Amino acid sequence: HAAISFEGAAKRYADGTVAVEDLDLEVSAGELMVFVGPSGCGKSTSLRMVNRLVELTAGRVLVDGEDVRHVDPVRLRRRIGYVIQNVGLFPHRTVEQNVGVVPALLGWSRERTRSRSRELLELVGLDADLHARRYPHELSGGQRQRVGVARALAAEPSVLLMDEPFGAVDPVGRRRLQAEFRRLHAELGTTVIFVTHDIDEAVLLGDRVAVFRQGGHVEQVADPVTLLAA
Ligand code: ADP
Ligand code: ADP
Repeated sequence: HAAISFEGAAKRYADGTVAVEDLDLEVSAGELMVFVGPSGCGKSTSLRMVNRLVELTAGRVLVDGEDVRHVDPVRLRRRIGYVIQNVGLFPHRTVEQNVGVVPALLGWSRERTRSRSRELLELVGLDADLHARRYPHELSGGQRQRVGVARALAAEPSVLLMDEPFGAVDPVGRRRLQAEFRRLHAELGTTVIFVTHDIDEAVLLGDRVAVFRQGGHVEQVADPVTLLAA
């Protein structure tokens, strides 16, 4: 069954902007689905429906068959990882503590949290011995985004939402992050929705790509190879 379903999902903001009109879309378990399209076409709004940072004005969104409106938002956000462009790490906590934030909230033991953090740092391509005790300002932009990905994955979420996660990273670092994220996803098999306005990134990363146009309308859901040919 679908890991995430949008069923007639719509969002009209308080100022009257209809960001998403009527979205129907299914993301399979373990799939890496990319939302691609120009700025302002409703990608982020759609993404944020899944963890209830945006509340729908019509329709519904199901995660693992459950209407997200029936799940407490705090619980929901612990189950769903979320990475944005500037990940917003806690500046006065070390890298390791940042990665362990959700496990600590979930009551994991210190030891389990610590070993999970270190394991994840290695998975996202950081050296745990070198980086775990640093503070965010002691890292490069690319390294901070890696920590953000590690933090989002720490409590083994079934779903990972990524909104232009590599958007602020320099082009070379970005290529490296894309390649490594592709590998990481193959290893973990987490269901991912990845938002980008960059068609190359979409083709490189997606198992499938949903092409958005204005108003959250999905023009097509395509195999990335098809998009390359077009
Ligand atoms: P994208 O992620 O594709 O760039 P967004 O989902 O961010 O698109 O935005 C879709 C539309 O909704 C845009 O017209 C944007 O200006 C508008 N929008 C986004 N957030 C808000 C908000 N909080 N209040 C009003 N309008 C918003
Ligand atoms: P990247 O190739 O990931 O963008 P940078 O060129 O920014 O990396 O940084 C190169 C190295 O310098 C990295 O190993 C990083 O840990 C280190 N570094 C960057 N900024 C700082 C800082 N403010 N304090 C300490 N080390 C830093």
